[in-house]
Amino acid sequence: MLVLGIETTCDETAAAVVRREGEGPGVVLSNVVRAQLDEHAPFGGVVPEIAARAHVDALDGVTAKALADAGVALSDLDGVAAAAGPGLVGGVIVGLTAAKALALAAGKPFSAVNHLEAHALTARLTDGVGFPYLLLLASGGHTQLLAVLGVGRYVRLGTTLDDALGEAFDKVAKMLGLGYPGGPHVESRAAAGDPARFSLPRPMFGRAEPNFSLSGLKTAVRLEAERAAPLSEGDVDDLCAAFQAAIVDVVADRAGAGVRAFAERFGAPTALVVAGGVAANGPIRAALKNLAEQIGARLVAPPLALCGDNGAMIAWAGAERLALGLADPLDFAPRPRWPLDAAAALPGAKA
Ligand code: ATP
Ligand code: MG
Ligand code: FE
Repeated sequence: MLVLGIETTCDETAAAVVRREGEGPGVVLSNVVRAQLDEHAPFGGVVPEIAARAHVDALDGVTAKALADAGVALSDLDGVAAAAGPGLVGGVIVGLTAAKALALAAGKPFSAVNHLEAHALTARLTDGVGFPYLLLLASGGHTQLLAVLGVGRYVRLGTTLDDALGEAFDKVAKMLGLGYPGGPHVESRAAAGDPARFSLPRPMFGRAEPNFSLSGLKTAVRLEAERAAPLSEGDVDDLCAAFQAAIVDVVADRAGAGVRAFAERFGAPTALVVAGGVAANGPIRAALKNLAEQIGARLVAPPLALCGDNGAMIAWAGAERLALGLADPLDFAPRPRWPLDAAAALPGAKA
């Protein structure tokens, strides 16, 4: 099954063609991502109106390139998928409308994909991971521990009570004068710093419920930064190192709580999966690998190109849903908010 996937929920205009052949990993035939870094840089974050206009400008070219790179014509496709949410509604409308038009023009089934489900299923595209598995979804807008029982079948075990992990990286980067998105900047500055020079809290450490709380940690970084001001380059390195070390400890501890919560309900997990932009972070991946080894599970982390937003994950989620006969109508409305564990459920599925 060949599916074109389109992603426009935030600040990446992306399209890709993916092949799915039964169970087992898929094949990414093309994966075109156009990030809008220059457009938003002057504002230190994503401006929704600018994002929507940039998607309009870029999407035709990005989609044409995805088809050309894959060597595929519209008529060869078995379906067209787009992320229908959650995300910035202006951008979602652009990708969703384009995908519907392509599906209609080519006479192909259409799939409206939940962007979070696409992150969640990426481990099946790359590694063919079987259900059920424990997922840490760690992105710019979400931080959740989920039991993934099947396509459309998610049980949320824990979530963040305030900031998402990626958001915490972005806010710390901003307060230290580093660029957006913050994660890669903080990670590279942390590599040069001393994590022990500043002592920071590990919020929620040791709690049984697998929830996160990150806003107190962010505030603690701000207080240390104010105390050490004016900041030298070395101070910034050390603050990044201390922050990332705290995050790594918290992620390992909270994921451990997630393992126990999963085991109580579904048996010991055999696969621990991490997805979303924060999954690109080397020390976080290393800590999760360590945890997976301790519990005798395997860690599945996407290659870096599939951690952040991309079209391949949308195409794959669409392929998984279309393979189950779950095509969507062309009047499917954008969903700026779309929790994974409720509305993405299969008809009749009990989570
Ligand atoms: P959502 O998926 O929740 O809708 P999003 O699509 O904006 O949000 P992603 O694109 O999946 O999020 O991830 C972007 C986030 O990942 C940003 O917050 C960014 O700082 C973070 N990130 C990217 N690389 C790294 C890294 N190396 N270390 C830590 N965080 C990172
Ligand atoms: Mg993004
Ligand atoms: Fe995302």
